[in-house]
Amino acid sequence: MMHVILLGPQGAGKGTQAKMLSKAFALAHICTGDLFREHISKQTAFGKKAKQFIDAGKLVPDSLTITMIKERFAKPDCKKGFILDGFPRTLAQAEALDEVVDITHIIEIKIGDALAIKRLTSRRQCKVCGKIYGIDIPEKVKGKCDNDNSPLYQRDDDKEGAIKKRLHLYHEETEPLLEYYKPRNITFSVDGSLPVEKTFQALKKILEETSL
Ligand SMILES: [Zn+2]
Repeated sequence: MMHVILLGPQGAGKGTQAKMLSKAFALAHICTGDLFREHISKQTAFGKKAKQFIDAGKLVPDSLTITMIKERFAKPDCKKGFILDGFPRTLAQAEALDEVVDITHIIEIKIGDALAIKRLTSRRQCKVCGKIYGIDIPEKVKGKCDNDNSPLYQRDDDKEGAIKKRLHLYHEETEPLLEYYKPRNITFSVDGSLPVEKTFQALKKILEETSL
């Protein structure tokens, strides 16, 4: 059983790596952001409750998120385990998660702030198909989507001020989780500044060597 938490600031390529790992090891990829969106769009009981907080400009309470994640753990695709992406972000959330499941790995994808800012501010998205471009995946014709030739735009949360705020929050609230899990000898770190495939190989090696 692998119960993996992937940690890393935005721009570290966490989502991409989580997807690749989930395929390679037949683990469920649980992205809490997507999970919320899914519950909200399906108007489930969780979705309705979460939406009330979001609409009021409030954070969704940890207890609600944990209940939602716990329900997700029971789905058949979690049989071999899961990769958690986007949760926990705070110590309180990590403690709450401990009540629900035993974490086997916490892996940090490390990148410096300068690179995170460079990667994120270069991101452009297509308004029509939603495809995201950036320094690692440039579009063929500058400013135009490869799929439909529509103009690309920069999302507000990819502007430098917003990125710096999120990075600050990551250093303040999320990075201390590594210390929290450290006594259990389940913390690992990989270099996220490398090309996607290289970082993936490093992650894969950790999971292979610890699952023997
Ligand atoms: Zn497009």
